Amino acid sequence: MAKSIMQDKKECWLCRNANGSIELSPYGLEEHHCISGTANRKISEETGLKMWLCVYHHRLVHSCREAELIVKTSAQMKYEETHSREEFISKFGKSWL
Ligand SMILES: [Zn+2]
Ligand SMILES: [Zn+2]
Repeated sequence: MAKSIMQDKKECWLCRNANGSIELSPYGLEEHHCISGTANRKISEETGLKMWLCVYHHRLVHSCREAELIVKTSAQMKYEETHSREEFISKFGKSWL
């Protein structure tokens, strides 16, 4: 299992984005692959584009386009800190930025 490049701590990534520096629970979390889809899920795993989400936010990301897009664009930006846009597209098939 590859290490997440999205976060160092086991905590909900979206709760962290909304809550600055408060202490968050490491329990009851579910793993989300940032770029979803049959083939992309596996590539997300290999490239570390995955994150912990609380149950509420995990459901939200899978049901709300806007929330899904926040996660996807953040993941792509993270990937592109160390790779090119072309590499991202060659792996995931398209760009969300
Ligand atoms: Zn959350
Ligand atoms: Zn998920």
